[in-house]
This record gives sequence, C-alpha cells and structure tokens, in this order.
Amino acid sequence: MEITRRPHLHQDWIDPHAFGIVKALQKGEFTTYLVGGCVRDLLLGIHPKDFDIATAAVPQQVKRLIYMAFIIGKRFRLVLVKRDSQQFEVATFRREVRPEDLTDPGAPSADNIFGTPEEDAQRRDFTINGLFYDPISEQLIDYVGGLPDIDARVLRMIGDPEARLLEDPIRILRGLRLAHKLGFTIEPTLRAAMEKHAGELQKSVLPRKREELLKILRLDEPERALTECYDLGVMKHFVPALHDLLGNTERRDLFFQYFTSLSTVVNDPADPTQLFGWLAFAVLKTAQEGPSERETPHSFADEIFQTLMRDEFGMYKFEQTAVVKAIELLPLLKRSEDFKRRGERRQLALMKNDGFRLALRLAEADLELNAEQLSFWRNSFSKQSAEISELEADAKEKAKRRRRGRRRPQRDELRSEPRDKRDDHQNDDQNDDRPSTVSNGEEG
Ligand code: ATP
Ligand code: MG
Repeated sequence: MEITRRPHLHQDWIDPHAFGIVKALQKGEFTTYLVGGCVRDLLLGIHPKDFDIATAAVPQQVKRLIYMAFIIGKRFRLVLVKRDSQQFEVATFRREVRPEDLTDPGAPSADNIFGTPEEDAQRRDFTINGLFYDPISEQLIDYVGGLPDIDARVLRMIGDPEARLLEDPIRILRGLRLAHKLGFTIEPTLRAAMEKHAGELQKSVLPRKREELLKILRLDEPERALTECYDLGVMKHFVPALHDLLGNTERRDLFFQYFTSLSTVVNDPADPTQLFGWLAFAVLKTAQEGPSERETPHSFADEIFQTLMRDEFGMYKFEQTAVVKAIELLPLLKRSEDFKRRGERRQLALMKNDGFRLALRLAEADLELNAEQLSFWRNSFSKQSAEISELEADAKEKAKRRRRGRRRPQRDELRSEPRDKRDDHQNDDQNDDRPSTVSNGEEG
C-alpha cells in the first residue's frame, strides 16, 4: 500500500456534507474514505460531480451513526444519505465474490460480501478509479498504483484487462469514455483487450448501454469518442446504426456535420430527451440526405427509426414520444403567421405539446426558422408559460397516478445497486403509454 501524505489536491473542493459524513463514521471508529471518481477528479483539478464514500461500517451501523441515512436495495445494500438537495452513497468495503462463497449456504448474498479496503480497491475497474482519500488526515491511500497513472495520464485496468472486461464488458465503454473525458492514453494491453472483446458488449443490457451513450454525448467532443468506438470495432455492438453511418466516409462526414452543428439543441445536458433528440435528429437528417447502404429511416414515423430509438439508444417511451412529436411539429413552427392570426388559444394548443420545447430548439439549431418566426414562438411561449407549466404539471401528476397502479421500480430502488451492478433493469419507462398524438392547434 502506498500512502501519500498531503497529496496535491483541492481539499477546498470537497463537499462539506461528504466531509462531515466521513468524519462522523471515523469518530465511530470505522475506517472511512472518499472513493472513486471524486478522488480521481480532485487530483486532476476537476470539480467532482458527486462524492462517494466507502466505509468499514455495515449499513446498519452507518444508519445508527448518520442522520437521514436510508438503507436501500435488496441484493446490494447501500446507504443513501440525504443532505439538502444532494445525496451521498455510502457503501461498505466489499470484495470480489469467490467460487466458495457461492457454495457456502451460510454466506450472505453474493453482492454483500464485505471485505477490506484493499479488496474493495481491487474489484474496481481502472487504477485511477481505485484510489481512497481520507479528507480528515489528508492522506491518499493507493493500493492499485492509481497515483502514478494519474501523473502519467494513463488509463490502466486493475488486474488482467481481458479477464476484467470479460467479467463486465460495459467496462469497455467506461474506459473509452473516461479516456476521452480526461484526455488519458489507454494502456496498450487494455486497448488490445477492448478491441478483442468488443463483441462481449452484446451481453451487456440496454439500460447500461443507454447510460454510457448519454455520458458520451455529454463529453466536450463526443464525435471523437464515437469515432474511436467505431475504430476499435466497438460501435457494431454498441449502437449498430451508428456503426453503419460511420462506416462510409461520405456518410460519416455528413453525419458529423449535422451532429456538430445541431449540438446547440442541448442547453441542459442533464436532460436525456435533449441529448437523444440531438442524436436522433442528426441520424435522421443524415439518413435522409446521405447515400444509403442499408435500410435507413426516412421519416420519424419509420419503423426503423422507432427501433433505433428504443432498441439501440435505449430511450424510454416518453422520450421517444417527445422526440417524435418535436420532429413532427417542425413544419408547423414555420407557419407562425397562421398562428399569429388564429390567436392565443391555438398557439397554446400547439405549445402544450410535450415536444414543443425540443421542437423549438431543433428548429433553431437546424436554422429552420427565420429570426421573426423564432421570436414569435419565444414570445408567445414566455407569455403563456405559466399556463403551460400548469398543464405540464397536471399531465405529470396524471401519469404518476396511472403508473402507481402498476407498481414500477422507484428511482431509489434503481439506485439501490452499485453502479456496476445496475444492469438487469429493463427500461422501466418503456411501458409508459402516454398518448402520442400531436395536437397541432387545429381543433376547435
Ligand atoms: P463518472 O461519475 O465521472 O462517470 P465515476 O468513476 O465516478 O465516473 P461511477 O459510475 O460514478 O463512475 O462509479 C463510481 C466508482 O465505482 C468508479 O470510480 C469505480 O471505482 C467503481 N465502478 C463503477 N462501475 C464499475 C464497473 N463496471 N466495474 C468496476 N468498478 C466500477
Ligand atoms: Mg461518479
């Protein structure tokens, strides 16, 4: 084990709540550290987006020591600590499951085998993700050689790359994304293993691929990560439609031209509908104009387009509906003169469509509207936005009530497994059957 006293990291960026939770658990005599992405980001001068905590305390002990702590999950028991609008995951140190664990009837469920900090570090994916930081004593604990790799800016697998990728192929996508996010070089044997085992991604379930796709779209230059996915032979098993687009130079150029110019669609990267809307629209535009090699969607109503959104992007039903509606609304937005004449009631009918906001962003990014049309819709939207918000809140409430009867997994339950285990949930929202017709303000 390597301990580095006072490493060069931004101690002042550590969230005071996370600090407080670690301190309280340590006071209770439990070894407790910050772990994973936050330690990595702090060392690299990046503001962490969340702070994960690893501790020797078992969930019940955490609950006793920390207020507003909730044990979640049946298989993998994790503690979620709520503070203001934030939540912090506190996980007990775990180790890899061994074959004998599975035969011992007295052993706890396979996901809850607690271990030492060192064992916990060893089961993580990349060395730079396996670092612990004790924010109280300001010590960095490195069991996996993560610090030298941070300094050398290298992404290296913990353990044998082939075995670890076979164990969980989603690590291929995590690795590619992380290397791009941080500008790190992928260590050659890891890179070779990614290429060799790309096909294993077929075994990863759609919700996990969906999350990785969204995270790639949130990168500064997603086109580079997408291209590398293609070059390594990964795209074929990740998003086959993109593999086809990127396989032909002419189509690739056209796609990236649309993809980059349409990036302004996204003003809230936390919103998957915007991210998917951007990608889907770029694919559609390319398919409509590019030389076609296989069956490509020529309209949003095409079955191929629906399949792409559902089975390749992993979009939920309500996201598909919003994207389809947005594309469907585009031509109507050009008729702003008509709507001006017809008055506020019809304008409102159009604007209250789920896809209206996205439609306006698509139209703007695609330069479909002139300045006058754009300002007309912006003004009417802001004038009537109170009423629209009310309608939207109503619709959400109704949908919630409808869903309650069916008892779907709740958000917290989805968080109840560690990120590396959250794999076997099918797209829960795919059954959301909100009506999908567009109201174009023609009625009445
Ligand atoms: P970011 O949040 O920026 O995407 P991260 O490294 O924090 O990056 P998370 O998905 O938040 O990623 O996971 C937190 C930590 O859990 C990781 O740093 C890593 O140590 C571990 N981890 C996550 N997914 C896996 C996996 N598939 N295999 C092994 N360890 C994993
Ligand atoms: Mg994280």
